[in-house]
Amino acid sequence: MDHPDDPLASAELDTLAVRAGQVRSAEGEHSEALFLTSSYVFGSAREAADRFSGEQPGNVYSRYTNPTVRAFEQRMAALEGAESAVATASGMAAILSTCMALLAQGDHLICSRSVFGTTTVLLSKYMTKFGVDVTFVDPLDEAAVAAAFTPKTRMLFVETPSNPLCEVVDLERMAHLCHQREALFVVDNCFCTPALQLPLRFGADLVIHSATKYIDGQGRCLGGLVAGRQALVDEVLGFIRSAGPTLSAFNAWVFLKGLETLRLRMDAHSSNALALAQWLQVQPGVERVYYAGLPEHPGHALARKQQRGFGGVLSFSVKGGQAEAWKVIDATRLMSLTANLGDAKTTIVHPATTTHGRLTPEQRAEVGIGDNLIRVAVGLEALSDLQRDLTRGLSSL
Ligand SMILES: *Cc1c(COP(=O)(O)O)cnc(C)c1O
Repeated sequence: MDHPDDPLASAELDTLAVRAGQVRSAEGEHSEALFLTSSYVFGSAREAADRFSGEQPGNVYSRYTNPTVRAFEQRMAALEGAESAVATASGMAAILSTCMALLAQGDHLICSRSVFGTTTVLLSKYMTKFGVDVTFVDPLDEAAVAAAFTPKTRMLFVETPSNPLCEVVDLERMAHLCHQREALFVVDNCFCTPALQLPLRFGADLVIHSATKYIDGQGRCLGGLVAGRQALVDEVLGFIRSAGPTLSAFNAWVFLKGLETLRLRMDAHSSNALALAQWLQVQPGVERVYYAGLPEHPGHALARKQQRGFGGVLSFSVKGGQAEAWKVIDATRLMSLTANLGDAKTTIVHPATTTHGRLTPEQRAEVGIGDNLIRVAVGLEALSDLQRDLTRGLSSL
């Protein structure tokens, strides 16, 4: 990458998204090759021995390395501005591998209370089983985050903007808190992707992705990724090689194709979401709209500072309760009723009874997820058709 003749050495994100990480095989293929092979053959016993010992670089087995997966990792590292990246079988595998590699019994982890539901389960139910203490905090309350640190705190984990209320966490402030105390700052960048937010620039040590969402962008494959400094990523890589939550070559190939249109899609998701949020604000059945692109959202100024765009996810509360929210959802004909997001197809969901259904009513009230809240992950359909789809239910309230 640092070679003066390398056109990617100082290339912009748009170029890196299309070109970074590609290694052409002897066939001269233009599109990235898909290497569907579990293992690799050696030219001689000597070469096999040298590959196994690591003396000679090269592929041994696809749980360790695969050229298609490597291309995806290198492209993602280039986009995130990271020294290195390692891919995983899913977003959850990325979070698990990071914790398993970098935490040990007796360590303390601080996690934002507004993270993906399964992240909460993984940390509170499973990491604790291995003697890692976990404290959940409101990431917008800096004093509370600072107070949660103990001499054993090794990691702070956040997600921004949050799901479903689009709360924006101050990356620079959180990084500062961590680095004063020698803790690692880990950011789940799934909602923004590197097209809209580069957490490493604001002091994060590691960036986590669920590539299942916007990186694929069309709802086909599961995958994940961890990016950051070489030494940290190498630790995570060591765990993945031994434990096996490896990304499949086929999925890596799909993600490579997805990345080529990432910025165009993220810009389109963002502009569609902003327009829908503005329209929702003036609909009679709507109580409140949560989208950081709206100037009245409490995280707006911060989002402008640390994000290039506001992303595709918004939520809104309707006048009434669960019955009214369900009425609006059930009246849609175009949007997909599913908890997934990051797809060209718009999805709609009732967080209180699905994604956040495992929380107690008190916990939901604390994080501000009411029974009248609806989340929409705005896709790439025409705005007017999305509006018509919501009007059916909203006008009947
Ligand atoms: C979906 C998601 C995950 C988990 O990713 P999987 O690929 O489903 O395992 C983690 N974090 C966020 C923010 C997500 O939306």
